[in-house]
Amino acid sequence: MQRQVVILGSTGSIGCSTLDVLAQHPQRFSVFALTAGRQIDKLFAQCLQAKPLYAAVLEANDAQLLQQKLRDAGSATQVLYGAQAFADLAAHPNTDIVMAAIVGAAGLLPTLAAVQQGKTVLLANKEALVMSGELFINAVKQHQATLLPIDSEHNAIFQCLPAALQGGCYQSDLQKAGIAKILLTGSGGPFRQTPLAEFDAITPAQAVAHPNWSMGRKISVDSATMMNKGLEFIEARWLFNCTADDIQVVIHPQSIIHSMVQYSDGSVLAQLGNPDMRTPIAHALAFPDRIASNVKALNFFEVADFTFSKPDADRYPCLQLAIDACRHGQGATTALNAANEIAVEAFLNGQIRFTDIARLNARALSRFASHSAKTLDDILALDQESRLYAETELGSLS
Ligand code: NAD
Ligand code: MG
Repeated sequence: MQRQVVILGSTGSIGCSTLDVLAQHPQRFSVFALTAGRQIDKLFAQCLQAKPLYAAVLEANDAQLLQQKLRDAGSATQVLYGAQAFADLAAHPNTDIVMAAIVGAAGLLPTLAAVQQGKTVLLANKEALVMSGELFINAVKQHQATLLPIDSEHNAIFQCLPAALQGGCYQSDLQKAGIAKILLTGSGGPFRQTPLAEFDAITPAQAVAHPNWSMGRKISVDSATMMNKGLEFIEARWLFNCTADDIQVVIHPQSIIHSMVQYSDGSVLAQLGNPDMRTPIAHALAFPDRIASNVKALNFFEVADFTFSKPDADRYPCLQLAIDACRHGQGATTALNAANEIAVEAFLNGQIRFTDIARLNARALSRFASHSAKTLDDILALDQESRLYAETELGSLS
């Protein structure tokens, strides 16, 4: 039987790659709903192609426009709007699989709504887990949702775990399974070799031009500061039920190894492939089966070299901030994530320098590190408080 898929954030980089994989397997999957923030032209084109029953956008005006265009084009897709509509579609009784690919904190509530209905949740939206790790994983356990990682590193780690552990990796005992370390790889981004003296002058255009991956603007800036690896460090802590001491970040500029698991007998298992998100997406969509993704097969005769190094703390201060936040707990990670979203947005808008992102994040972390955030209300309140703090601090940076 076809599985019904909802894509939260269908117009983004992950959303488009997901639609690409789904279109290759029409007998397995059917698109139940697509959602986007404001990109209605792109969503319109996607609706004509994937023919979802529902589409949803943030604003009422956009929904009206989109509905009219779709009707004129002979489409039967029904358009809804507002954050509640995203959550309702994710939790709809007919929904089997939810691809959580909204960027940032905005993805938390609809993703959680899917978890609370015990859906199969394909998690790309790492910020949701960074904000609410403990609460989110408890909800996965309580509602017996299936949680599958889309982030390429976490998907790689998942694939390198013993098969018996994969389904419940978020509650596994790594030591008992003979796992000594999770090796989280990262390319080091576009400024791995840029002289530190030039960091102040880095422009948004330079920061979003990732050498290996094509991604949305926010995650591209996060990759340049390596905050992305920091968020992934926190994500790994929750997805694989481990501590900060169990995870080691390794710079691997070629992005061919997507992460590794080191076992106590000395074996290291790695997942490799060309850097294309359709691989982890296809893996998670079909899990435990394997389906084609249209990703070019890795040709070892074309891979020039494989190199590895330790991350340099002076070059990537955001990475250390995230690791520190991970050790502090959920309040710290919520606050850091929120401040980082404000900082990245301000950098992309030309309001602050590249190096100010880490400065702002450091201020927010030192202010909120010891705050606790247990319930969803606590988390959302702290997220807001940290955003407001970061916005006020913006002015004092330049
Ligand atoms: P993107 O910016 O390309 O797309 C984001 C999507 O979210 C768009 O569809 C946009 O319309 C929607 N959106 C934005 N704000 C919204 C809001 N307030 N409410 C509802 N919808 C909103 O981002 P992306 O690169 O596809 O990344 C999506 C998520 O996946 C991020 O959390 C990112 O960290 C994660 N991720 C991305 C990649 C990648 O290769 N792009 C890899 C790993 C993880
Ligand atoms: Mg990643």
